[in-house]
Amino acid sequence: MTAIRNITGSTQTTGIFGYPVAHTLSPFMHNAAFRELGLDFCYVPFLVEPDMLAAAVAGLRAMHIRGVNITLPHKENITAMLDLVDQEAHHIGAVNTIVNDNGTLKGFNTDGRGFMMSLSEAGVDVSGKRVLMLGAGGAARAVGYSLCKEASSVYIAARTASRAAGLCSHLGSINANVECIGLKESGSDKFLSGIDVIINATPLGLEQDDPLPIAADAINSRHVVCDLIYKMTPFLKAAAQKGARTIDGSGMLLWQGVLCFELWTGRKAPVDVMRLALNSKLSVK
Ligand code: NAP
Repeated sequence: MTAIRNITGSTQTTGIFGYPVAHTLSPFMHNAAFRELGLDFCYVPFLVEPDMLAAAVAGLRAMHIRGVNITLPHKENITAMLDLVDQEAHHIGAVNTIVNDNGTLKGFNTDGRGFMMSLSEAGVDVSGKRVLMLGAGGAARAVGYSLCKEASSVYIAARTASRAAGLCSHLGSINANVECIGLKESGSDKFLSGIDVIINATPLGLEQDDPLPIAADAINSRHVVCDLIYKMTPFLKAAAQKGARTIDGSGMLLWQGVLCFELWTGRKAPVDVMRLALNSKLSVK
């Protein structure tokens, strides 16, 4: 158990709304960062049941909570409850961060930029590259928004073809070269020979006995393979065995948190301290 030290009468509260929420690693990285900079802030988890979301949002105002992260299942429903939603979060249709400025609640989405920062930190530049994204859910919407601004073309393959088609048409307003492709075809030699970066944005791999999102046979050393799941998944392991460069989702988790921290505090985040706090928890999961 970790004690949050030095709570005072003027401590500013941040936290996370989710249901469930007990699995979150965000308190570790944010509280470590507040301590590092000597900020009178704390970060706590709030278990918010779906039918209590509006009451919880009223509580943000009533209790002058500085800001919260929003996780499943609230990311989409919360957008209509805020005073302002920034352009990126509006386009994505989901909010993962709220900032409370004297009672005005503003929503942001830092997931897509967090993912791009994790790629950039790993020395991967998607500009001019051809990217395959597997999955068309909330995380794919956020990552797709940022990807489409840089990649030359983005292909989306998902279990529910209509969901992939909806995301393609939505992202088409940012990048004219967004296309849907069948899941099976997306794993073929012919298709993957024209792809540079592959991203798993499905939950497949959370469990060790999950099937791979696509067959890894056609993956090779010219591919960069990313997984939004923040551990070495079976898909990443299979890709690494084929010689591909692999990147897991822990960097995305870190960098989306760095961006939130800076929105709440106005201070530059101590990234290495946050990374250390996160990694110490990821290594024991
Ligand atoms: P989501 O909204 O539920 O979407 C999941 C997508 O994966 C959908 O396209 C879904 O297809 C597909 N899918 C689910 N189960 C599948 C299966 N058994 N076979 C094939 N496709 C399947 O979930 P999300 O919020 O986008 O999250 C996706 C992943 O990203 C999760 O593993 C989550 O942990 C991870 N994530 C990581 C971070 C980070 O910071 N690293 C942040 C956010 C999310 P259907 O439409 O057919 O259901």
